[in-house]
Amino acid sequence: MTKKTKLVAFDMDGTLIQGRLIEVLSRKYQISDKVKSIQNEKSLLGFQKTEIIAKLLTGIRVEDVVQSIDSIPIMHNAKKMVGWFKNNGYYTGIITDSYTIAAEVVARKLGLDFYAANELEVRDGIITGEISMPLGWEKNNCPCQISICKRYHLSLYANKFDVEIKNTIAIGDTRGDICMINHAGLGIAFMPKDNEIIRHSKNIIRNPDLNEIMNYM
Ligand SMILES: [Zn+2]
Repeated sequence: MTKKTKLVAFDMDGTLIQGRLIEVLSRKYQISDKVKSIQNEKSLLGFQKTEIIAKLLTGIRVEDVVQSIDSIPIMHNAKKMVGWFKNNGYYTGIITDSYTIAAEVVARKLGLDFYAANELEVRDGIITGEISMPLGWEKNNCPCQISICKRYHLSLYANKFDVEIKNTIAIGDTRGDICMINHAGLGIAFMPKDNEIIRHSKNIIRNPDLNEIMNYM
């Protein structure tokens, strides 16, 4: 096969999978109210919320996180679209503000080339509550200030795979995806969950079907 010259980066929760890991974990461990109040706390920056939420996961077994991510169905036509991208010269990957434990499972299911996510510290198979966040916005002055600047990591992987930024595609569903969607050669809001991403997106898919990406190709 010829050399790949393009790259597509997907958000994970709500984009490649039909749900959100943190919501499944919250229900399972009855921490929904705490998680929601942290998520809605206006005085905290995005990455600070991620640090506090990680503390709430202390004591959970890694295998239970794997089981939870496994229980969330893959998005309609995710496999088909990933296959299409791979056959058409694209590197494929996940850039998510979820956890590497989960992103690895989804990346393996779909046969993706890379994933970038927060790393929960694990000791003897148990989550300790410590988290290491990729960040990146402190290097490119991105206003996102979340646990993983998706724009920074889109550029990072494009560089790594020797892909020009104009040959990248970014797809996501929340405000945390805006910086990569606006930076990519083609940015698509998929089933957008908040008004901010709708305001910042030219291309919007409103059906839960990744096959609709084809309309933009
Ligand atoms: Zn950013």
